[in-house]
Amino acid sequence: MSQEEPKDFIRQIISDDIASGKHDGQVVTRFPPEPNGFLHVGHAKSICLNFGVAEENSGKTYLRFDDTNPGKESEEYVAAIKEDVRWLGFDWEDRLTHASDYFDQLFESAIRLIEMGKAYVDSLSADEIRDYRGTLTEPGKESPHRSRAIAENLDLFERMQAGEFDDGEHVLRAKIDMASPNMNMRDPTLYRIRKIPHQNTGGKWNIYPMYDFAHGLSDAFEGITHSLCTLEFEDHRPLYDWFLDQLVPDHRPRQIEFSRLNLAYALTSKRKLNALVEGGVVTGWDDPRLATLAGMRRRGYPPAALRDFIGRIGVTKKENLIEMGVLENSIRENLGDAAERRMAVIHPLKVVLTNYPEGETDQMTAQNHPARPELGTRELPFGRELFIERDDFMEDAPRKFFRLKPGGEVRLRFAYIIRCDDVIKNDAGEVIELHCSYDPDTRSGSGSSDRKVKGTIHWVSAEHALEAEVRLYDRLFTVPDPGSEEDIMEHLNPDSLEIAEARLEPSLAGETEAVQFERVGYFCPDAKDHSAGKPVFNRIVTLRDSWAKIEKQALSDS
Ligand code: ATP
Ligand code: MG
Repeated sequence: MSQEEPKDFIRQIISDDIASGKHDGQVVTRFPPEPNGFLHVGHAKSICLNFGVAEENSGKTYLRFDDTNPGKESEEYVAAIKEDVRWLGFDWEDRLTHASDYFDQLFESAIRLIEMGKAYVDSLSADEIRDYRGTLTEPGKESPHRSRAIAENLDLFERMQAGEFDDGEHVLRAKIDMASPNMNMRDPTLYRIRKIPHQNTGGKWNIYPMYDFAHGLSDAFEGITHSLCTLEFEDHRPLYDWFLDQLVPDHRPRQIEFSRLNLAYALTSKRKLNALVEGGVVTGWDDPRLATLAGMRRRGYPPAALRDFIGRIGVTKKENLIEMGVLENSIRENLGDAAERRMAVIHPLKVVLTNYPEGETDQMTAQNHPARPELGTRELPFGRELFIERDDFMEDAPRKFFRLKPGGEVRLRFAYIIRCDDVIKNDAGEVIELHCSYDPDTRSGSGSSDRKVKGTIHWVSAEHALEAEVRLYDRLFTVPDPGSEEDIMEHLNPDSLEIAEARLEPSLAGETEAVQFERVGYFCPDAKDHSAGKPVFNRIVTLRDSWAKIEKQALSDS
């Protein structure tokens, strides 16, 4: 970040802390995902922020798996999260940790709290604990077990871990204040019995720490200086501080909350994403219609564009719903510059050049990028039979239609001007072929004729074209904020995926990068399904913002 750019409030706090010598001027952050699903675009905000502020201040960032919920978590998710963070461009070096790495220390910390008289084993049922907790307007009631003797608490807690009790028989709770206006301070649970093996620690533990207890202490154990999290943790901060005051008073990481990123027409909840995956609504966590990092990677979003987007939306405490167009503009800007141009016809219509010699092939020279001559040119085969885009022909065209119409002329990009002489239809009256003639004096770049026509269209040679599956994605939901709907399944867009049988210029067989299909959009070979023998391309984004139109439509509909 350059000096002149205004800082967000978190970066400002960190600068001030460095200036005042707090934490000896160190910056240590962490990104703490729970491995219970794949990461989504919201996590990208947290990743860019945590790794970003550390990088900017020569600090360090931990990737810490918050794995305190065995049963819901898995190694598959751990591996996916690591891949996603790396793909986004960040490196935790040797700072890969797990809350479970600290289970011994957390257990000892719990024992210390018991010894201090600040934690007790409660034997109320889960329902009773809920009832005793009170409400926002009524204070809670103290559990009859709250006054258990320290020795009895120690004995019960050890036996909870030894496996002598069943799930739910006892919990360990902090002894804070059952009348606190902050519900989180009403003797929160520290440990519960869960007799299931853990993906990291196997069968060693019969009890597992709660997130709030594990989180702040893990921060302290790692020497985190700034613990950046989303706003829903604001009410947990007094508890975060309470644990540290009791147990690690000499190191005080500072928790700072910021607002979550919500993206219009996308889901940013692992639980809801999981429902789509489990329900078979999408092909997997990496379905290109999902705003998961794996989905966006497969879709072809450049990680730099995603980082740029996160930078543009900034970091505040305001709730927000960011329009998809903002993300797509970052993508278009990135690819507009980076992606080479290619020719592809998505919905092909056959064109026969009746005055072109049969069996002959020519090579046209095409620029790879209109603004970057250093990217060079390539050869495009040209012949008597071509494909053009169905939309580029109109039989009853309005006067201002400058593409192909009966009797009209158009330029084939990098080739010749052609005229449409005949329209061939099938029995159903559908146009299946155009008979055209080309003007040999109008070859692009030859200078033999400077005749001009208003329209230029793209094409591929029928004989040489690759037949490809092209996947055209649209928004997955029909409502801008699917996460707020009771049943997301009722708001699925039935047209979120169109599969087109496209024709591509032959050079695309071996393509590995994102490219622009001229006049159509940005596309990339599908990482799983594409091969030279059976090309499969994903549409990354259209050339223009089609979302603006959708947003307007949604507004006028409502
Ligand atoms: P989910 O509801 O998707 O499960 P979560 O908050 O439970 O999200 P975690 O794995 O606990 O997911 O999140 C890891 C970190 O990412 C947390 O610090 C969390 O605050 C942050 N985070 C999660 N969602 C968002 C979001 N939409 N915007 C910004 N940060 C987020
Ligand atoms: Mg969580």
